[in-house]
Amino acid sequence: MAIPITPVGLGDTVRLKKPHPCGANEWEVVRLGADIRLHCCSCGRSVMLERYEFDRRFRGFIQRAEDRERAGAGGTGAGSAGAEDAGAAGDAGAKNARDRF
Ligand SMILES: [Zn+2]
Repeated sequence: MAIPITPVGLGDTVRLKKPHPCGANEWEVVRLGADIRLHCCSCGRSVMLERYEFDRRFRGFIQRAEDRERAGAGGTGAGSAGAEDAGAAGDAGAKNARDRF
């Protein structure tokens, strides 16, 4: 019976059991409620899923919204190892953020 309620949050990027017909399997949560609205990150279409249907199809998180906020706040969590790589990734992330918004 019990399908666990997925602790999903607004702005999270998730993967579902079946990809979108466009071939992508990356969805951003844009509305939460009795129904959940998902935005296809590839073609930009949005779909509505009932909450239980979403929980059934949910496969995993690609990115949590809170992780994205933390990454944008600055690399305080970056260790000394691979500092250059972390810096490059941070720059790419900032650029993506500008492109998206
Ligand atoms: Zn799509």
